[in-house]
Amino acid sequence: MHTSVPGFSSFVDLYVTDPFFAKVYVEVTAGARDDFFLSDGFLFRGFQLCLPDCSLRLRVIEELHSEGHVGRDRTLQLVSSSYYWPSLRRDVERFVERCRPCQLAKGQATNAGLYLPLAIPTQPWTDVSMDFVLGLPRTQRGNDSIFVVVDRFSKMVHFILCKRTTDAFKVAQLFFQEIYRLHGLPTSIVSDRDTCFLSHFWRFLWKMLNTKLDMSTAYHPQTDGQTEVTNRSLGNMLQSLVGENIRAWETRLCQAEIAHNHATNRSSGFSPFQVVYNIVPRGPLDLTTMPDPSRLHGQASDFVDALKATHEQVSTNLSHSAEKYKSRADSRRREVIFEPGDLVWVVLTKDCMPLHEYNKLRSRKIGPIQVVERINNNAYRL
Ligand SMILES: [Zn+2]
Repeated sequence: MHTSVPGFSSFVDLYVTDPFFAKVYVEVTAGARDDFFLSDGFLFRGFQLCLPDCSLRLRVIEELHSEGHVGRDRTLQLVSSSYYWPSLRRDVERFVERCRPCQLAKGQATNAGLYLPLAIPTQPWTDVSMDFVLGLPRTQRGNDSIFVVVDRFSKMVHFILCKRTTDAFKVAQLFFQEIYRLHGLPTSIVSDRDTCFLSHFWRFLWKMLNTKLDMSTAYHPQTDGQTEVTNRSLGNMLQSLVGENIRAWETRLCQAEIAHNHATNRSSGFSPFQVVYNIVPRGPLDLTTMPDPSRLHGQASDFVDALKATHEQVSTNLSHSAEKYKSRADSRRREVIFEPGDLVWVVLTKDCMPLHEYNKLRSRKIGPIQVVERINNNAYRL
């Protein structure tokens, strides 16, 4: 079956006039170079489709970035995993820097609390974290919270709609329906909820499993720094997606989930999909006429070997980033001093607004605003 996406066939003619690709095109046609190749009229550099200089470049960046308003590095990774053009890096950087929903939504990251390292898992979906984003604007269906389940190995997330009043029984039910169905039982769960909640949760979950076995799974009612980091970046991502339309966050949740699971994770070095399934699901931009070399049918043993190699690499990367995280946890906060006349973004925090006006998903940044006077190095009049 062939699918065609308007816009993707028209640019083939542009190679011959493109300032960069014209020369490449001629040389490839003449068989004079092998770092590029032609397929169905499309120019490729390895797995990357070459895009000539046209509006499509911007549309590709916009499409991939806006899926989840992921940061610069992740957007760059998403774009360059499928596309190539000489100024790609610069174009992505410029786009992300200027993306207004991103600028508005990204708050200032402050990090308080102790960092308690947890054992690093070695397989997908054996060690999970459960957290709750509470107190969001209530949607029409009455949801005001998100139950966030993260696999600590692959970093795959599932966002599950819930209510602030959802109790341990209901959470166990959601877990049974949405997580157990897909990934089976984990052997450990970390959560920000108290021990009492977790023991109820396990009891209810055990009941639903209809087993006579004794409940012996471990649970750790502590949080670790990295889970919080994940949640903070998920929070930022949701805020960017929701933008000004704060009643619509419910409908964007599934998009945010796939965007997170699609993008390369900084700690593991792989996208969660790749770690769990060894394959990356298609997005709208992948529905083109081009052959996808990563989907060729291979031997089953190749699949297993590749997955095993991925898991080994993930384990190594996770321990490296845990070490890095630990050493960075002590040295943070740089001193920044502004002068009158400087333009700054102002972050609105809970304590500088009346309670009912503060809303978790409303943009927390306003500006740019000019600095009028420096009172001291930490206080300014705007
Ligand atoms: Zn953005």
